[in-house]
Amino acid sequence: MKVYNTLTKQKEEFIPLEEGKVKMYVCGPTVYNLIHIGNARPMIVFDTVRRYMEYKGYEVNYVSNFTDVDDKIIAKANEEGVSADEISTRYIAECKKDMADMNVKPATTHPLATQEIDGMIAMISTLEEKGYAYHVNGTVYFRTRKFDEYGKLSHKNLDDLRSGNRSLKVTGEEQKEDPLDFVLWKPKKEGEPSWPSPWGDGRPGWHIECSVMSKKYLGEEIDIHAGGEDLVFPHHENEIAQSECCNGKIFARYWLHNAFLNIDNKKMSKSLGNFFTVRDIAAKYDLQVLRLFMLSAHYRSPLNFSDVLMESAKSSLERICTAVDSLKDILAGTTVENMTEDEKKSQNEVDAFVAKYQEAMEDDFNTADAISVIFELVKYANTNTNADSSKEFVQKLLDTIVNLSDILGLIVNKKTENLDEEVESLIEARQMARKNRDFAKADEIRDTLLAMGIELKDTREGVKWKRI
Ligand code: AMP
Ligand code: ZN
Repeated sequence: MKVYNTLTKQKEEFIPLEEGKVKMYVCGPTVYNLIHIGNARPMIVFDTVRRYMEYKGYEVNYVSNFTDVDDKIIAKANEEGVSADEISTRYIAECKKDMADMNVKPATTHPLATQEIDGMIAMISTLEEKGYAYHVNGTVYFRTRKFDEYGKLSHKNLDDLRSGNRSLKVTGEEQKEDPLDFVLWKPKKEGEPSWPSPWGDGRPGWHIECSVMSKKYLGEEIDIHAGGEDLVFPHHENEIAQSECCNGKIFARYWLHNAFLNIDNKKMSKSLGNFFTVRDIAAKYDLQVLRLFMLSAHYRSPLNFSDVLMESAKSSLERICTAVDSLKDILAGTTVENMTEDEKKSQNEVDAFVAKYQEAMEDDFNTADAISVIFELVKYANTNTNADSSKEFVQKLLDTIVNLSDILGLIVNKKTENLDEEVESLIEARQMARKNRDFAKADEIRDTLLAMGIELKDTREGVKWKRI
């Protein structure tokens, strides 16, 4: 499996630190509002990376934080006249709901920055002891000049950055030794959440959070660290500096970054105000459509949001679901059990689709090509099955389409799941009617089910049903 590593700027063979296991950290959102669909891109993309790794048999330890202490959270709390904690708790719950609706699996651990302050103080203390940090008036800074490899992820020319940043010295940060030095701990301001520390009451800088949470839940060395491309500099560059100087080990082996979701070719962001929340989209579409839309482009290519593309994703999803439904219909109707000789030969063609799909995913998770393979398979299934196909062959096609979609987190056999639930609840209602000796009602429910194509059979083991 090849993955593009921002650190080396090339595709590399993925070799995990520990055989059969993947340790993966994805920077999560700052929780002060409903998430927008730009934030959803890394969630969907890296959930898909995780699902593919799991499909390959890896045990994935997936950690993704919530940044629950931040200027924006405090500003929102002041605006509403509530505590910062109330804001972050509310939006973590909302974010988890959006994630579930987008079929993004919950992380193995979702740490919260505010619960990890002790670890942050410990890491900052170690950095200070080793000479990588210094404090001035209650603020602790990281000494970037002491880390020779500073800049290795973003491939930036530090001299250019230093001269470009000289103006910072004029804007009140003259206490820094170097314009590129960044904050590890900042002193308390009135009305803001704070914690006691060796440098006085205050709160952590943003970058230290991820170094600490990654170390605590995954260890000092991890396989994959991921996030949106805006995080490469300074966030991830600073995480590398903190972790590698503290632990004396390579922090993460592979750095994966998704490109932006744009709108009118501009980055979708809260500050520009050009965003749609996941909730806005959910009011109009099943979020599976959003998921298919996101994965229809390679994760390292910019993706422009548009109604046209969403409508096209909607009809694409319907095409897969319709094929799945018709395979199910054939399965329910056919009397042929085992594969015919011709179908046995066709099996190789189905296997070839799976191989082609894997080839796409092995090439730095090319979900766009993987989706094309699903469509080829759907077309193949539509033209190569009919009412006389064998159960065995149809089941194989059905399982293959459902499984390949599932790796992308796409639920394509939903209709029947819903139908099953509906049937079960009608059967329950009928049982209740019979118990109450309301036989007219019970018969009425039986007829309703019949009209839905469901036949009931009362047996000694209870009520059985089948599609007719
Ligand atoms: P934030 O809450 O701004 O820290 O963002 C959380 C995650 O969403 C980070 O990985 C960002 O890089 C990512 N992100 C934010 N906006 C976009 C966008 N328009 N396109 C893609 N990723 C984004
Ligand atoms: Zn982070």
